[in-house]
Amino acid sequence: MNKYCPRCHKYTEHTISTYKKGQDRNRAQGKRRMDRKTKGYGSFPKPIQHRFAKTTKKTALKYKCKDCGYIIQTKGMRLKRLEVVRT
Ligand SMILES: [Zn+2]
Repeated sequence: MNKYCPRCHKYTEHTISTYKKGQDRNRAQGKRRMDRKTKGYGSFPKPIQHRFAKTTKKTALKYKCKDCGYIIQTKGMRLKRLEVVRT
């Protein structure tokens, strides 16, 4: 897809992919806190949500410049199905 690249300051070819959650880091502050709280006896610190009002999750698109490798990430939008059509 042809799109403006802010680093190259011109229109270049971009490849499109969707944002995916990265791997959890084992020593991140949130993970360490969670491990300390769930250690030993006692209940889970936060209630687990079972019923959701929304039926879809947000999808964010990533555009990668083929010239310099710069990645533009768009705002997430709620989609049921994503289809990339070549124009
Ligand atoms: Zn570029």
